[in-house]
Amino acid sequence: MLRIREFITLLMINNMILRSEMISTYKTTDFSKVVHHQSDHRDGESLHIGIDDTDNRSGRCTTHLAFKVTEQILRKTNACFIDYPFLIRLNPNVPWKTRGNAAVCVRLKSDIKDQQRIIDIVKYYVESEAVVGSGSNPGVVFFREPQLPETITEFSRNAMCNILSRRDAIRLAEKYNIEYFLLGNGRGIIGSLAAIGCLLDGDHTFEAIAYRRPENFGTSRILDSDRIIECSKSTYPYTFNNFDFTNRRVLIAPHGPDPVFCGIRGENARIVVSSLQSLNIEEKLEGCMVFRSNQGTNMHLRNEIKLPEAKSFTSGHIRCMVSTRPQIVQGGHTLFSIENREGFRIPAAVYEPTGLAKTASLLAEGDILELGCGIRRASSKHPKILNVEYFTVLELAKVFELHNPLCRTCSKSMKSEGKGKGFQCKKCKLKESSSLQKASIQIPREISTGLYIPTPKAHRHLTKPMHRFGLEKGLTDYSKDSAIHSNWFFLN
Ligand SMILES: [Zn+2]
Repeated sequence: MLRIREFITLLMINNMILRSEMISTYKTTDFSKVVHHQSDHRDGESLHIGIDDTDNRSGRCTTHLAFKVTEQILRKTNACFIDYPFLIRLNPNVPWKTRGNAAVCVRLKSDIKDQQRIIDIVKYYVESEAVVGSGSNPGVVFFREPQLPETITEFSRNAMCNILSRRDAIRLAEKYNIEYFLLGNGRGIIGSLAAIGCLLDGDHTFEAIAYRRPENFGTSRILDSDRIIECSKSTYPYTFNNFDFTNRRVLIAPHGPDPVFCGIRGENARIVVSSLQSLNIEEKLEGCMVFRSNQGTNMHLRNEIKLPEAKSFTSGHIRCMVSTRPQIVQGGHTLFSIENREGFRIPAAVYEPTGLAKTASLLAEGDILELGCGIRRASSKHPKILNVEYFTVLELAKVFELHNPLCRTCSKSMKSEGKGKGFQCKKCKLKESSSLQKASIQIPREISTGLYIPTPKAHRHLTKPMHRFGLEKGLTDYSKDSAIHSNWFFLN
C-alpha cells in the first residue's frame, strides 16, 4: 500500500507523462488507496484547523486556500485526514460578510513534528494568499485536543444565526488554549472558531469543487449545459442546484475571477465526484477537492426567532399569523405584517428575486405561517423587517367577500342605495328596506397549505432545496469512524 506522499508523487509523475491526456488522468484517478492508508494513522495527535475570511472581492477564495493547504499537507507530511475538509457557511445576514461567508476546517491526526509543519504551511498560505486591505480579515485557529469543548460547538451554533463579536471569540480561544493567528482586523477568528466547532453530526451535504489554473483566472468558463442537465436529471435527488430549469441557467459555476471552476453539491462524496467527472470539463484544471458542508441545510434558520427582542442581522424561523393583507409594492416585492403568539407585530417582506412575491401576495389576514427569515435593520424609512427566505402556510384563513343581495323576483344583483338606505334592483326596480344585509360569501383561496421556497437562482448557499426536505441526515447517518471513504482530492 502506498503512503500518501508516494502516491501523490506517483500521480505527479503520471501527470507529467500524460500531460496531453490530462482529462483522462482526471477521470481515471483512483484515490481509494490514499484513503485506506489513512486509517492507519488514527492514533496521532489531533489538530483541528479553522480558517475564515481570506476571501475578498478581487476573487481569492477561502475554499481554494483550503485546497492548496491540503495539497501541501498531503505532499509534505504523513498526516491523516480524519474527516473531509469542511466548508461551513455562516449567518448569511451579517452585513460585513464577504461573498459567501464561508469558513473552512481541516481535521487531522499527525505526529508532533508534522503538526508544526502543518501549522507553518497554513500560516504561509494565509499570509501569502489573503489580500489584507482589500476586504479580507483572515483568522486562523489551531486546536490540538481530540474533543471539542461544548462551549466551542455552542459558539458555532450561534455563528450560524447570530452576530458574534471578535472579542468573545478571542476570549473563548484563550480560555481553551486555542492558538490563533489574525491578519487585518482579525474578524476572521469568529468564523474560524465557528468552523472547528461545527461537527456536522446532523444534516450535512457535500460539494466537489474544481479549481482553475492561475493562467485561466478571469477567463470565461466553458461548460456543456446539456451535460449538466443530463447529470442533474440522472442524479436526482442526490445532487442539487446544478441547473435552474425554470430560468434555464447553469448554477454550478461562479462568474467572477475567482479560482473556482465549478462545484457540484449533493448528498455524498461519491455522487458529487462522479457527477463532476461526467461533465467532461475541457479546461485544464488545477484539481478538485470534496468538502463536507452545511450548504443546503437551512442550518441558519434552525433557531426560533423571539420577538420583539430579536436583533437585526440575526436569522431563524418564527410561527406567526398574517395580520395585514399583503401588498405588492414597487419593484414587485410583497409586504405584509405578521403577529406572533403574544400579539407583537412586525412587517415582513418577500422580495421579487426570490420568485415568491406573487405567491405571498395571495396570503390573507389570519393565515398561520412559519417564516424562515433574516432580520433587516430598522432605518430612518422603515422599522425592523423580516426578510422572508421561505414560508410554510400551516393554516389558511377563511376569506369572505360581501356581496349585495339578489333580487327576489329576477335574481339579479341589487344595487346599494347608500349606507343604511337599502337596495334597489337595477332591472325591475324593486326596492328593499335597509334591514336587508349584504351577503357574506366565502371565496376560494388561490394558495394552498405547504412549503414555499425561492427559485434556485435566488438560493443562498444555506438554502435547503425543495427536494432535500425529507432527505435530511440525522445523528444516526453520521459516524466519526466512517469518515473519508471515497475519492476526495484530485490533482491534475
Ligand atoms: Zn329585480
